[in-house]
This record gives sequence, structure tokens and C-alpha cells, in this order.
Amino acid sequence: MTQINEQQTYYDIAVIGGGINGVGIANDAAGRGLSVFLCEKDDLASHTSSASSKLIHGGLRYLEHKEFRLVREALAEREVLLAKAPHIIRPMRFIMPHQPHLRPAWLIRTGLFLYDHLGKREKLAGSHLVEFDPYTSPLKTEITRGFEYSDCAVDDSRLVILNAMQAREKNATVVTQTRCISAQREHGLWNIQFENEQGIYQIQAKALVNAAGPWVAQFIKQELQLKSQYGIRLIQGSHIIVPKIYDGDKAFIMQNDDQRIVFAIPYLNQYTMIGTTDREYLADPNNVEISQQEIDYLLDVSNDHFKVQLTQADIIQTFSGVRPLCDDESDNPAAITRDYTLALSQDHENDAPLLSVFGGKLTTYRRLAESAMVHLQKFFPNAGKAWTEKSLLPGAENLVSVDGLVLEIQNKIKGLDHETSSRWAHAYGTYTWKFLNHSTSVHELGQDFGHGLYAQEVDYLVDQEWAITSQDILKRRSKLYLKFTEAEIQALDEYLLELHERRLQKDVA
Ligand SMILES: Cc1cc2nc3c(=O)[nH]c(=O)nc-3n(C[C@H](O)[C@H](O)[C@H](O)COP(=O)(O)OP(=O)(O)OC[C@H]3O[C@@H](n4cnc5c(N)ncnc54)[C@H](O)[C@@H]3O)c2cc1C
Repeated sequence: MTQINEQQTYYDIAVIGGGINGVGIANDAAGRGLSVFLCEKDDLASHTSSASSKLIHGGLRYLEHKEFRLVREALAEREVLLAKAPHIIRPMRFIMPHQPHLRPAWLIRTGLFLYDHLGKREKLAGSHLVEFDPYTSPLKTEITRGFEYSDCAVDDSRLVILNAMQAREKNATVVTQTRCISAQREHGLWNIQFENEQGIYQIQAKALVNAAGPWVAQFIKQELQLKSQYGIRLIQGSHIIVPKIYDGDKAFIMQNDDQRIVFAIPYLNQYTMIGTTDREYLADPNNVEISQQEIDYLLDVSNDHFKVQLTQADIIQTFSGVRPLCDDESDNPAAITRDYTLALSQDHENDAPLLSVFGGKLTTYRRLAESAMVHLQKFFPNAGKAWTEKSLLPGAENLVSVDGLVLEIQNKIKGLDHETSSRWAHAYGTYTWKFLNHSTSVHELGQDFGHGLYAQEVDYLVDQEWAITSQDILKRRSKLYLKFTEAEIQALDEYLLELHERRLQKDVA
């Protein structure tokens, strides 16, 4: 946890929530010269923003729901984000097997024509028809035709962390494991109270941004004791991870009889990630987990399409999240709008503003943040202009090619395996050099925790990326949790305990 700076108790903007929308707004505002404070009650990206399908996509199926504004914005963002963070985002081709009884070919062709042309597209290839060779196709032999188009894949939790790092580089204060417990308006400012392991703190801010994701409405009601302008629908989505069921780097978008679609996405070279589901969720968002019904549903959709037949025993991991969607009173969870709504509220003219974020996608976080700043502009007339479209995220600076960086790292560090240098290049980009320092061999990287995780990387994650626990490192800063054994996790926990003690003693001294 970053210590709260007790010297500074006044900020222009306080942001509640360290998911993609909170860090996106904090980063944008800090880059415009505003003083920003962001608090996250758990770890960065510990909720919806690490439980996504990990796509930067226009959302082909939203065309069916006539969400043209959202799709146009999201399509254009694909190339903007790809240029901003080519280490954590990569183009991906998607194959949609044709199921004529579900959607006629003309409908798909029209959808893909719009998809190719609605948003600006320079690097991503367009769509076309594909015929499957029954001998080499991973799909069942009766599936003979389909359509192929482009979107992008992203490391979702690292997108959050890189935005938080950039916000900090622009002087924002970002604190984790710190919950906002209440806030009141007074004399044109917000008095805001926080609680963490060290106690209760208060700051003042001119504007309060509520980016609490699934808790957005609850935060307004309970912590602020105010009325929410919009309702929120919590829609659970779950994924399963299985050993890869086909070779190659393309994803499949499978149409199901219930009109929903499910993705099969190549994941971390060895796995296939299958998801997602859509079901109303009424319990505590902290405790969301996959249900047996969702497992059966995802296995059935996959088994209806692929030659490889999966059973529950094949599942290596599952993950679930809740989409905090703006309530548009749709009966069907899959049809509720995925677009975002920003609600600015002031009870009286001189009241300090509250801006609440309802809904949104990872893909549109940057545009959502720009839009948030437009809403807040009148309160900060001296704030700078929009700047995020052309700026690079941390680690993308001086990055000529990710493959080139993989080789460079491997050449520099003797004895390093390709898998680890590739993981570093894709997670940290050129920031990899920050923790490699002057090392020239794996033997200089400190304790080896297995699977390419060394002490030098762990220290960096603790010092620079707000990591505290082994799960912060294994689940959100990397995806090594899929490989680590209980004993390996314990060794990492012990190291972290000592590291935190050492850091604490240093701080006291
Ligand atoms: C299954 C699924 C698949 C998805 N797939 C995609 C996809 O492929 N592409 C895409 O673009 N989008 C996708 N999305 C949507 C996307 O993940 C979400 O829109 C986005 O992550 C929401 O981010 P957020 O910041 O609003 O919420 P969150 O990530 O949940 O962040 C809110 C944060 O606020 C914190 N918080 C709450 N209350 C407090 C408090 N009082 N004090 C301090 N902190 C607090 C929480 O701990 C939480 O970390 C998917 C969503 C789901 C569920």
C-alpha cells in the first residue's frame, strides 16, 4: 500500500476505485495538471477489470442491439490503444463459424461490413469469408464455412496498472488497500474519509469521482448518503481456462442457440479461455464465482463447435466478474446496454461536484475518461487539453518491436529462457530494463521462485506497482498463478513478508 501523504490533504479531484475507469480518469486528470488522489479498497484491478474476456473490441454483437455509438467509438479505440501499449495489446483474428439456422449469411456480412467501416481502421485487417478444411480445422466437420475479422487482445489488469503508473508519473497519489468510508460536501469542497490498516484519514477535494464499478450505486447510497440518478444492473460473466483445444493464434466466436455468443480465445500459449456467460447477479460482488450451470453452459457451447470434447475435469481455472451496467430495464441480461453513462450531480449551484461512472467497457476507458473531464471542465478552467490519444503507456516508450525486445532481453541475460523474456517484454515493455538494472545473467536476479519469477522482478513489483501479496503478483501483475504450486506460493509469501518488514524498517529509519 502506498502511504497516504499526510502533508497533502487537499486535491483537485479524488477518485474512488482502482479499476480501469478510475485509473483512466485519474491519469487523464493528472496529465492535465490537476492534483489527483485515487483510492482502491483492495488491489488495483482486483474486480471487474481483471475478470474480462481481455478483448479490445468493437463488440460485433452490440450491432444487433443497435449500439452504433458505442461500437463506432470502440472500433476506433482499438488502433489508438494498440499504438499506446503494443506490449500488452495485440491484434487478433476472430473466426465466426457460420450457423445458418441462427443468423443468415447476409446478416453477418452486413454486420461485418459495418464493423470494417464504422471506426477508423489502418492496421487491422478487414473481414472475409473462410472455408474450413475438414481435416485440419479444429471445428466439427459439419461446420464448413465461416467469417474472419479483426479485434485485439489485452492484458486487462496490466492495462489498469500501467494507467495507475502513468497517473503517478504525473504526480497523482494512488493508494491501494484503502477504502473510502464516507464523504460530505462542505463550503464548496468534499471532505472525504478513508480507512486502511493504519487508521482513518481525511482529505479534501474540489470534485469527487465515483468509479466504484459494481459498487457505484451502493457508494452513493451508503457512503455518501445521497440518491443515485441511475440504477445499476450487476450481470455476472464467467470464463473457464482449459489446456489449448486447438493450435494457432486465432480466436473463435461461437453463436449459441440462445442468440448469445461465446469466445474461445488462445491464452498464454498453452491454454484456451472460453467465455463468457451473462446472468443477473444479486449477491455481494466481492464473492462472485462461477456456478455449475455456467460451467455446463460453456462446456456445451465449446463441445457443440470443436472436435476436442471437453469435460469438467479439463478445467484448469475459472474466473468470474460482474459487469456494472447502467439499468435500461432490458429483460434479457445480454441485451442491457454496454455503453457508459456519466452522471454529474450538484444539489445546489455552489456544491462540490460528484461524477459517477455507470457501465463502460475496458475498450472505451480512455474515451470515458476524456468525457469525464469534459463534464468536470467548468470546475477546472485552467486544466490542460485532452492528451491521452497520442501518448504512450509506460513501457511503450522506445519500443520498436516486442519480438525485438524479447531477443534483446534474452541476449542480455545469460541463461534466461525464451518464455520468461517473452513474458517480461509483453508485461513491462521497455520498463523491463528498470528491474534488470545491470544484470547480465539469471544468477544475478536473486531468489528463483520458479517459472521465471526472480526476486528482482518481485522487488520491482512491490516498489513500483503497488504489489503486496503473492496473489497481486501472480494473478494481476502476471498470470503465473496458473503455474505456481502451493509450495511455490508459500516461498513467495515468505519472501514478501521479509521484504515488507525490511521496507518498513527502512521507512522508520
Ligand atoms: C465477464 C466480463 C467480460 C468482459 N469482457 C470485456 C472485454 O473483453 N472487453 C472490454 O472492453 N470490456 C469487457 N468487460 C467490461 C469491463 O471489464 C468493465 O466494464 C470494466 O472492467 C469496469 O471497470 P470499472 O473500473 O468500472 O470497475 P472495477 O474494475 O470493478 O473497479 C471498481 C473498483 O472500485 C473499488 N471500490 C469500490 N468501492 C470502493 C470504496 N468505497 N473505496 C475504494 N475503492 C472502492 C473496487 O474494489 C473496484 O476495484 C467485461 C466484463 C465482464 C464482467
